[in-house]
Amino acid sequence: MARPVKQRYIGSLPQITQFKPRGVPVYELEILTLSCDEFEAIRLSDLAGDAQEEAAAKMNVSRQTFGRILEKAHRTMADALVNGKAINIGGGVAIPTKRHQVHCRHCRRAWQVPSGASKEFRCPRCRR
Ligand SMILES: [Zn+2]
Repeated sequence: MARPVKQRYIGSLPQITQFKPRGVPVYELEILTLSCDEFEAIRLSDLAGDAQEEAAAKMNVSRQTFGRILEKAHRTMADALVNGKAINIGGGVAIPTKRHQVHCRHCRRAWQVPSGASKEFRCPRCRR
């Protein structure tokens, strides 16, 4: 039996919903999809520079799942760049969420978590 997919959290919805090679009509292009959670993984890991453990906590997924999301996103972007395909951004199991700050009781490290997510958080620094 398939496990239900845990809700993934994203900071905001993508503002741009399509990229395509210049000068090629869209009906001649193969169109790939980058889901909202894949977009968020790129934003957190590649752009903001979050460690995967931290980015995974923000998105309410395991580190392994985060790694898979990011890997798929990279493959989609590489396919579009190398082979001249378009990318539509949207869909997937993700909702924009408010965040609040939590502190680690052991090392005082502060970080953001999605409001309404599980109350159990592991510290991204000391793992306690
Ligand atoms: Zn800590």
